[in-house]
Amino acid sequence: MLILAVNSGSSSIKCAVVDPDSGETRWSAFVENLGTRGPHHLVERDQAGKRSREMGASDHQGAFESVICALNAQPEMARELVGVGHRVVHGGESFHSSALIDAEVEQAIERAAALAPLHNPGHLLGIRAARHALPELPHVAVFDTAFHQTLPEFAFRYAVPEAWYKEYGIRRYGFHGTSHRYVAHRASELLGREPADLNLITAHLGNGCSLAAIQGGRSIDTTMGFTPLDGLVMGTRSGDLDPAIVFHLMERGGLSAQEIETALIHKSGLFGLSGLTSDVRILSARSEEGHSGAKLALEVFCHRLAKHIGALATSFGRLDGLVFTAGIGENSALVRRMACARLGSLGIVLDDEKNGRNETRIDAPESKSAVLVVPTNEELMIARDTRELALGLRP
Ligand code: AMP
Repeated sequence: MLILAVNSGSSSIKCAVVDPDSGETRWSAFVENLGTRGPHHLVERDQAGKRSREMGASDHQGAFESVICALNAQPEMARELVGVGHRVVHGGESFHSSALIDAEVEQAIERAAALAPLHNPGHLLGIRAARHALPELPHVAVFDTAFHQTLPEFAFRYAVPEAWYKEYGIRRYGFHGTSHRYVAHRASELLGREPADLNLITAHLGNGCSLAAIQGGRSIDTTMGFTPLDGLVMGTRSGDLDPAIVFHLMERGGLSAQEIETALIHKSGLFGLSGLTSDVRILSARSEEGHSGAKLALEVFCHRLAKHIGALATSFGRLDGLVFTAGIGENSALVRRMACARLGSLGIVLDDEKNGRNETRIDAPESKSAVLVVPTNEELMIARDTRELALGLRP
């Protein structure tokens, strides 16, 4: 039994055939630069290696047909498909869990596009193309926001006029929910404890970065907010900042709302601070060589990270585990060391050697809470949710 996991953006489609039991990815494919002039290539990867072929199509529909064609070239694998799972960034307040896609669900995703104009329209193009190409299979939407729908109102409301919440949906939604949910579950397995008994902070540190406070398997607070721009410092995103900065830049700097938005999303974060790159591997090496911008970028990143971990720790009476995941969280011993060095007041102590080797458990024996490094696997979560809903195992 296999699932096709799809991540469709406004100009790209990424697909993977995943075994929901083992988590093994049997085959993957991606297409980029859709909507632009060709040539476009479908790049496939499986046991036999990587190969690329030119496609005639330049839109989602055509690209998806090429994906199906490539899949059908491996009939044994194609026959085992039981469902298609689609990653969807924003489900608004409509979705507390993954959902079987029908016309109503498509409409709700379309309504939520007002909250995620950069993401949901691309997801919808992919969903429509995939449903058209594979009408016989059930399709499931797996939302980045759904896991955080359990936040209590005092955690999801901003202290702004109530009418903004009622009329414009201004509230904290939170993102990376599929990753936070997966690593929290995996951490409870690794700790040999029931999720219901655990208070965890999960740190998804990739190009985008967010934390979640998870109590008994439910998200009760998170750092990303109305959009994925809030909270931690990220690769090119600023994370939280005084909103008055925006008005100052408009009034004094003469910048347009569009220019400020672009700068906060694409030219800030580690990249903006260092003036070099958003890549922590390069920043670590340059900082070591004495590059002041690289050093500052990593310091601001780790200061903000520790500060938010401290803030989220107030959600619980005790913290059982801190879990690092995604590109930076899984690989940067330096970031973990710099952040945890600031968390002595929470009783967190790292074992430097285990941390340096990226081991799964990296806390020292005297640490008051476990510290873990857990590779994330969003595709596996998408595959498992899709299997359950496709087979009617979940209402
Ligand atoms: P992701 O979005 O999860 O793919 O994470 C991407 C980011 O992870 C990159 O921009 C790098 O900054 C970071 N990264 C990946 N590998 C390493 C590594 N070996 N050491 C430090 N950072 C890494």
